[in-house]
Amino acid sequence: MAEWSNAPHLKCGMPQGIGGSNPPPSAGFGGLERERGRENGSFPAAEALKPQGFKKFRSREILFDFLHLPHQMKAPYDLIVVGGGPSGLIAAGRAGERGLRVLLLEKNKRLGEKLRITGNGRCNITNAEEDERILLKKYGKAEQFLYSLFSQFGVKQTFSFFEKNNLPLVVEEFKRAFPKSQKAEDVERVLEAYVKKNGVDIRTNSPVTRVFAENGRITAVQCEGERYSAHEYIVATGGTSHPETGSTGEGFKWLEQLGHSVIKPTPSVVPLAVKEQWAKSLSGTSLSSMKITFYLDAKKEFSLSGKILFTHFGVSGPLILNSAHKVADLLHGGMVTATIDAYPKKDLGTLEKEIIGIFDANKNKTLKNIIKELSPQGIHKGIALLFEEQFDTATKVHSVTKEDRKRIVRLLKALPLTILGLMGLDRAVVSDGGVPLTEIDMRTMRSKKITNLFLTGDLLNVNRPSGGYSLQLCWSTGYVAGSNAKRN
Ligand SMILES: Cc1cc2nc3c(=O)[nH]c(=O)nc-3n(C[C@H](O)[C@H](O)[C@H](O)COP(=O)(O)OP(=O)(O)OC[C@H]3O[C@@H](n4cnc5c(N)ncnc54)[C@H](O)[C@@H]3O)c2cc1C
Repeated sequence: MAEWSNAPHLKCGMPQGIGGSNPPPSAGFGGLERERGRENGSFPAAEALKPQGFKKFRSREILFDFLHLPHQMKAPYDLIVVGGGPSGLIAAGRAGERGLRVLLLEKNKRLGEKLRITGNGRCNITNAEEDERILLKKYGKAEQFLYSLFSQFGVKQTFSFFEKNNLPLVVEEFKRAFPKSQKAEDVERVLEAYVKKNGVDIRTNSPVTRVFAENGRITAVQCEGERYSAHEYIVATGGTSHPETGSTGEGFKWLEQLGHSVIKPTPSVVPLAVKEQWAKSLSGTSLSSMKITFYLDAKKEFSLSGKILFTHFGVSGPLILNSAHKVADLLHGGMVTATIDAYPKKDLGTLEKEIIGIFDANKNKTLKNIIKELSPQGIHKGIALLFEEQFDTATKVHSVTKEDRKRIVRLLKALPLTILGLMGLDRAVVSDGGVPLTEIDMRTMRSKKITNLFLTGDLLNVNRPSGGYSLQLCWSTGYVAGSNAKRN
């Protein structure tokens, strides 16, 4: 028997929902049987509690549990889901809907912590691209593995699932779909209601610290002092981005030890750190319809247009996030700089004419006093910093030389940035890496290495941009895993 541990001192916590203060589900759930035994002043016989997977155990520790601490053993479930993020929640709910006895273990005090911060609190729940080929191309090399999965539970099914569960969706720019309420916490609420409605035994404050396996099967998982067993297991512990939400990568450690390969996670959809103070001074400001061009050692590499969000460390927003993996490649090659065109719809000549108009109307003001009029709305503070570095802003407009006027035009068409690097996993929206899809039966999400294990969501090595594609992957993998887990 193998036993894998990562944080043996963490303590298992309170049952929630069905297992806690809510009414109990149908008879046969582990927690319920145990409580009944206690009410009668006795425990069920150890044999009755003995889960199938434990029959061959030789560990003295485990035998001790059976013989002397029967109250610590949980009667077997059909399925244990580890991780109460989006993929674990939909998987658990779906299996419960099919009548399986499901236990969901989540280490945080609340379910879906990361889900609550998705889409800046609005949750970009999926991408409404109807053409499956176009949609799946967004998943890069994983495309070929995803057809069967998405034919079972794709974008269409995601829309009907949430609408059926009273969460209407709206589609915005770039086909990004959001809940009509614009609240990520509503998505979490709907999923929590789905798992509860389907009788899932939910235990929060329950970090799984050990996984036991024997003969290519998982036999039990452990929280401190409690060991749970089931016929099948879904590991849905997420990746490593924003670890404060609970995604700290334990799943990867267990999976490696269970014989899976794990490609090292690196941030892939992530903001960029820049040197320039003018950009950082605009923290919190976002500008739509900007054009950013990236250069490697002053040679133009690629341009993108869309919304840019300035932050206290640099730049973010969908446009930047989605170019991060390309920028990462450039950073290996040398010095990476970028320019932002603040007026992408105007050529140099048109912009210059407009600026001459502004100069003519404000001849006696200082350059400093007309910066607001020269700048796109919302970013004049940052532009002012740049102007102060490059011009004498106390000069009266009528005295600005033709050469300086042309420099101003060129500057507004190419606001300079020096890219220091990608922000880390703590700021990443998506990290790539994880378990290669070749090690999973992608029609069912069942592991090819461990016969009673399913993997979902961010644990999988699938590169994708921002735009709802990550959560769609969670809904597809989670629902299909929950549909394929078998009863004991
Ligand atoms: C800031 C941010 C914004 C995002 N916005 C979007 C968006 O708008 N649209 C989109 O498509 N994607 C978005 N994503 C990506 C999306 O959130 C993830 O793809 C998704 O949450 C992954 O779901 P998951 O179920 O695989 O794992 P997670 O959401 O990471 O959930 C894993 C769960 O497992 C629990 N867990 C971990 N270890 C243990 C353990 N040992 N025992 C018990 N429980 C454990 C964790 O506490 C956690 O609750 C965003 C990500 C970030 C960081």
